[in-house]
Amino acid sequence: MTMTTSALDEVVRALHGVLRDDQILTSKTDRYNRARVPAPFPVHLWSERLPDLAVLPDTTDEVSAVVRITNDLRVPVVPRDGGTGLTDGASPFRGGIVVDLKAMNKVHSLDLDNRTVTVGTGINMLKLNEQLAPHGLFYPDDPASYPCSLVGGRIGTSGWSLIGSRYGHTRDLVLSFDHVLPTGDVMHVGDGGGHQISKSSSGYQLKHLFMGHQGTLGIATEATLKLFPKPEAELSPFWAFDNYDDAYRCVGALARAGVATFAGAVLFDEYKVAYLRRDDEAYIPQPADVRALVCAVMYGYEDEVRAAGRRLFRIAQQHGARYLGDEISEGDWAARHDRYATPLHGRTKDGQVIPMSWHCEDAAVNYTNLPAVSREWHRIVAELRRKTDIFDDWGMFCYTSGNTGVDYLTEIDVGIWEQRLDDEAWALWVGAKRDIAAAALAHGGSISTCHGSCREGEVDLVPQELGRGFDVMLDIKRTLDPNNIMNPGKYQLDRAYDDRGVEGVGR
Ligand SMILES: Cc1cc2nc3c(=O)[nH]c(=O)nc-3n(C[C@H](O)[C@H](O)[C@H](O)COP(=O)(O)OP(=O)(O)OC[C@H]3O[C@@H](n4cnc5c(N)ncnc54)[C@H](O)[C@@H]3O)c2cc1C
Repeated sequence: MTMTTSALDEVVRALHGVLRDDQILTSKTDRYNRARVPAPFPVHLWSERLPDLAVLPDTTDEVSAVVRITNDLRVPVVPRDGGTGLTDGASPFRGGIVVDLKAMNKVHSLDLDNRTVTVGTGINMLKLNEQLAPHGLFYPDDPASYPCSLVGGRIGTSGWSLIGSRYGHTRDLVLSFDHVLPTGDVMHVGDGGGHQISKSSSGYQLKHLFMGHQGTLGIATEATLKLFPKPEAELSPFWAFDNYDDAYRCVGALARAGVATFAGAVLFDEYKVAYLRRDDEAYIPQPADVRALVCAVMYGYEDEVRAAGRRLFRIAQQHGARYLGDEISEGDWAARHDRYATPLHGRTKDGQVIPMSWHCEDAAVNYTNLPAVSREWHRIVAELRRKTDIFDDWGMFCYTSGNTGVDYLTEIDVGIWEQRLDDEAWALWVGAKRDIAAAALAHGGSISTCHGSCREGEVDLVPQELGRGFDVMLDIKRTLDPNNIMNPGKYQLDRAYDDRGVEGVGR
């Protein structure tokens, strides 16, 4: 709790004027549940990240009324959808009110002629696709968190989709949305005056500004999304390699081939394979001579996917690939949404099994710089492990970000013995995160492809990555959120108020 009892009473009184009793949650459990994120969590600091209360609005008008109250009373407000974000975006750093959008999960309208759907931003992609399936349509935003992240959180993070090379990522798939500004005003964000235009030259292109801001510029409440025919066929061959270099060259060649149904390619490096062999054999059986893996994914009509598959198989064979067979290929690709939940254990240096949670750091890196970044990142995590058993290197993935293969999402997975995190271990981790981000920047990359970069460590380098652009961010933040109520403490945006003393809102 950060508010005094009387201030909290005043907020609750005002909220009762715009919400039902059951939409205002003040219990300890309700508040604790809305502070946690799945990223490495400093459990010992949990109580410092608690909201004072949470609200569960049903409509845009209710969200607007809540934000208006928080702006008038100078109370921090944090939007939260699935709470699966990995960069603390939905964790309240200053107490205040968490606006939980889960109840706004309806399909409002489905337009079969224009192939769009309008939804409350509290719906998730799995539930939406269940409702679209009878119409032969689907919404192809496909993160590994597909069943548990929600459309509003995808907008808040400008999320990255595993099949983005074929259909685009969240920013391409969301046509437009209603958005509550930090003052409580409601605006419609998107191209054109209507809700279903995908390209316009009128005015500034504001859609991208209101995506990926991690809830620092307002709350998306209702979104219109592009739909596609549900693919008739999916082909996801997994190939094994006896060395990383061939696999790396293969993944680049697959991406550069220009195959229309190509939805993405994934490279598992030698550390990831060693980890899978050690602790995760349920997924991909790994003979000892396998050192790296590549998966390519194609979606489309049966005829085009089969033809595309023949071409990609030829390319893979030219690079020394060994096909792992249909059962393993289909099985592993199907497991892409749930594999992160296991094994939830790691090893001490002397081989004892210990409880560990999965954590990852991601960056956007050009194809040519991937090997250098990989080497540097593994060195950083090895140094952590040398110091303490709390950290374990679980290897790296690289995924194409687009169909030309120019850049990749690259992610290093780190096992962390979370219960053992104390101030000292946390400081080690924060330092490593900063070094990981610095390595991406030193190689011309971006600190994050999809999760955002507002956690301790990496956030320090955001001004360096953006240069003059960071000052523009400060100007925008100050203009749209004059009282710094919207998710304060994130992205170093408090600096926008340095000369005005407004940063003290909340904690
Ligand atoms: C196992 C696992 C796998 C993952 N795989 C992927 C992946 O493949 N691709 C990927 O992109 N991400 C992935 N993530 C990260 C996470 O799922 C995404 O960042 C996702 O977009 C977050 O959605 P959410 O609904 O959980 O949002 P939350 O965590 O609730 O919020 C994320 C951010 O958006 C803000 N926000 C929430 N709702 C709104 C709103 N309505 N309007 C404005 N801002 C809002 C929040 O304040 C916060 O800053 C993964 C996470 C996990 C745990």
